[in-house]
Amino acid sequence: MIKTQKKLPEIQSKLYINGEWREGSLDAKAVINPATGEQLIEVSQGGKAETEEAIQAAKEAFPKWSGMELSERVKILHRIGDLIEENIDRLALIMTLEQGKPLSEAKGEIQTNISNMHWNAEEARRVYGETIPAPNNHKYEVKKQAVGVVGAITPWNFPSNMIVRKIAPAISAGATVVLKPATNTPLSAIAIFELFEEAGLPAGVANLVMGPASEIGKALTESDDVRKLTFTGSTEVGKQLYKQSGDTLKKISLELGGHAPFIVFEDAPIEKTVNALVQMKFRNNGQACTAPNRIFVEESIKEEFTEQLKEAVKKVTVGNGLDDVTVGPLIDEAARENIEAQLADAKEKGAEILLGGERLTDGEYAKGFFFEPTLIDQVDQKMNIFYEETFGPVIPLIAFNDEEHVIEMANDSTFGLASYTFTQDLRRAEKVSRALEYGMVGVNNTGVSQAEAPFGGMKHSGLGRENGHYGINEFLETKFVHTSYFID
Ligand code: NAP
Repeated sequence: MIKTQKKLPEIQSKLYINGEWREGSLDAKAVINPATGEQLIEVSQGGKAETEEAIQAAKEAFPKWSGMELSERVKILHRIGDLIEENIDRLALIMTLEQGKPLSEAKGEIQTNISNMHWNAEEARRVYGETIPAPNNHKYEVKKQAVGVVGAITPWNFPSNMIVRKIAPAISAGATVVLKPATNTPLSAIAIFELFEEAGLPAGVANLVMGPASEIGKALTESDDVRKLTFTGSTEVGKQLYKQSGDTLKKISLELGGHAPFIVFEDAPIEKTVNALVQMKFRNNGQACTAPNRIFVEESIKEEFTEQLKEAVKKVTVGNGLDDVTVGPLIDEAARENIEAQLADAKEKGAEILLGGERLTDGEYAKGFFFEPTLIDQVDQKMNIFYEETFGPVIPLIAFNDEEHVIEMANDSTFGLASYTFTQDLRRAEKVSRALEYGMVGVNNTGVSQAEAPFGGMKHSGLGRENGHYGINEFLETKFVHTSYFID
């Protein structure tokens, strides 16, 4: 039984363009609670016309916003951070209802928003230029200026933070934004935009358009007024947007898929490593681009490691995120089918299911998209699960015997986002972290996403970085000014 019944708080359901909440021209779309299958609300939808209006609004707002007295801009940004903090319970509840993750995790995500907002508010004061030694009577200056109008497209898995992680640095830099959130999770976006309005963010600085992805995506990429596109989502869509942006030569940031290796050497403390793995793997029920997806364990400790891991996975509880559970449902039926297909392929090629492996359909699970926490062994490079991103509660185990070979296997991926290695040998930690072809490496920890530090991938995991001073830089242009003084 679902123990906690909580209703969706009062919330807007419209597009937000030029500081006004307004209906879109297309049919409204239902938002579904993935734990219960129930409709939460219907949300307005717009297409090309609304996106173009939003771009125009952002274009008109840009000179005023980028030219605003810096201390005023910073004050508004901090005010947004404060309002997010004041509304943390409301924002978390909305997220759990539309996305499914446990309330405690949803709150954790909102906490990250607060850090991102305040970090970027302060970073706005540190957009430093440069002077370069020049010939006598000349001055070489490098200036950083806001890029202009930004198009932003975000996914459903971190439906609030993926938005704040883009909009906070963009508006801190002085840019203006048109956002298209994921269709499954528009409410977390709306709830943040309500706070933008309350904080006094001027009309047109941040605009919100929900609607058909390809139509809005095309309007954003084809517009010459949009000077920067920032996208988080699948590699497939990211590549398409990259191509589409070619004709208008936009700056572009792509935060795409991942397939993180998690390497456990024989000198790693087993219990601590198991705990770190289980915590990271089941965060958001495995629906994270940074989720450990290929677990390489040194043969000599594999049996002991697997036993402890089994016991830890058995303790993972599944249910409605409003209750006190470790994991909620998956986002939709397609997500379950993808996992089933990967498991069927792995089983056929010799993998052994140690725990789980099935969808959950009885009783309270009947109407949601639930899946058993799953542990599989004997995974190898013949199987799709070794190469395809796994977006669910599945831990695949792979044995290894030597350092060179495990590095080679870990790098045998088109993805290059997060990676993890556990060892007490500093020499090895240094060697492995250098050799991993990944944008982020966790050595004896999994905390690769921090407001202060660059987040992003190599290879097919994307381009550019979010967070830290790298994040705001993505929304700045570099201008060189050479002045001469006519002095003889
Ligand atoms: P997705 O299908 O690529 O969707 C992401 C966003 O793109 C959604 O807003 C979606 O809209 C939109 N979209 C889809 N097709 C589009 C098109 N043709 N033109 C323009 N926009 C389009 O990805 P997802 O399934 O939501 O998210 C999961 C993926 O995101 C995973 O691969 C995960 O690894 C990745 N991810 C990466 C990071 C990172 O920082 N690297 C972080 C989180 C997630 P609709 O919702 O309307 O389809």
